[in-house]
Amino acid sequence: MLPILIRDASTIVGLQSAVAARIHWKLAALKYLVESHTGRIMVILALVLCALISSAQTTTQSSKTVIRAGKLFDSAAGRMIDHPVIVISGNKIESVSQGNSSVPAGAKVVDLGSATILPGFIDVHTHLTMNAGGGGYEGLGISTPRAALIGAKNARLTLMAGFTTVRNVGAEGYSDVALRDAVNDGDVIGPRMQVSGPPLGITGGHCDNNLLPFEFHYSAEGVADGEEAVIHRVRETIKYGADVIKFCASGGVFSKGDNPLLEQYSPEEMQVLIAEAHRLGRKVATHAHSAIAIKDAVRANVDSIEHGIFIDEEGIELMKGHHTFLVPTSFPLFWFEQHESEMHLPPWVVEKAAIIIPAAKKNVAQAFKAGVRVALGTDAGVYPHGLNGGEFWSMVQLGLTPVQALQAGTVNAADLMGWSDRIGAIRPGMFADMVAVQVDPLTDIQSLQHVQFVMKDGVIYKDEISGQSSTLNQK
Ligand SMILES: [Zn+2]
Repeated sequence: MLPILIRDASTIVGLQSAVAARIHWKLAALKYLVESHTGRIMVILALVLCALISSAQTTTQSSKTVIRAGKLFDSAAGRMIDHPVIVISGNKIESVSQGNSSVPAGAKVVDLGSATILPGFIDVHTHLTMNAGGGGYEGLGISTPRAALIGAKNARLTLMAGFTTVRNVGAEGYSDVALRDAVNDGDVIGPRMQVSGPPLGITGGHCDNNLLPFEFHYSAEGVADGEEAVIHRVRETIKYGADVIKFCASGGVFSKGDNPLLEQYSPEEMQVLIAEAHRLGRKVATHAHSAIAIKDAVRANVDSIEHGIFIDEEGIELMKGHHTFLVPTSFPLFWFEQHESEMHLPPWVVEKAAIIIPAAKKNVAQAFKAGVRVALGTDAGVYPHGLNGGEFWSMVQLGLTPVQALQAGTVNAADLMGWSDRIGAIRPGMFADMVAVQVDPLTDIQSLQHVQFVMKDGVIYKDEISGQSSTLNQK
């Protein structure tokens, strides 16, 4: 009996909401034992019960954490608040106040000094199950299980970079579904995730794989041609776990044998694809470079245009009219310029990048200036994971203000994901997801590439500020 009670004690430590009910059960069990066993056993059990009750009381009290910092970024209002005091209960934010608010009895206090605390960052376009490798033949040797394990490594890197939520857009074999579930089950450390599974695309398009010759008869899992086929593929992708649908409306940079300036899906195919996804409660993200593909996808009610490199004036107006998000994935444009030679890129990628990079900078800056809604997406996976915070800096380089860039990576990204009720802001009722930097990020946007504090779901994963040790911050 004794070992069973001790094992139950650890359950109580983990589940504060069940504490009262469990103590009630223990009392009933003890009553039975007192009535039916010898005095020696009764004494032992009474001692165990005292320990359980005192441990449960301590747990209830210490499950609250209070964070003090110099400033807090109010993402909805786009302003800083001085001397915030945030009370966290379990995995949720209980209250946010200012100044010398009293600390709940028994709460753990984390004093971040003069640091700025911000909502946990959100990346709506990442590829956790891919390493930066240039999109060549080496990638063909990566199995689905290996991709999932690559994802586990990159999920950790991404969380430690301050990104507490991501949207993974495109993974063969549903390795992203496995990764999301492993994170949710606590098997792997990583951000909360929405995942797309295999991205939909036309035969021979950006979301197919054109590296092998005909005799291999290979086509990527998301390939679907024609209206009936795309409807089936949307349903199938959802069946196997997709939270969001990704499709390729135009050619891309890393794919062999296609053209980013051309449209791939027809307007009719896009319309049925998007309508079916919406009917089944899923948002739709589309990879779209060419101006025509962007416009046809927006007209078909896509939720976000990813990249949007050749967006023109008409496309910008259409996006504004439809409230479509642009996910500009701008950091890789700058990263490639500096690191292309180390990347061992296939020749077709080098050729396309030379056209894409200057066009993207110019056109995305134009869209920013015109006031298109922007959500932060990094395309990490085409460059090394963990550098995601560079996207704040690169969006500022292209014309967003630091406040707008921060909103793109918090409230706007939450809105695009349909999760405005749980992430993207530090306010009561939201998940306790937050990061901190020791400088004012509005004057030093590059500081967001090196956050010193990360909390997700009320758990501290990194703390280089308060001096309290964290065992999870080694890479
Ligand atoms: Zn991408």
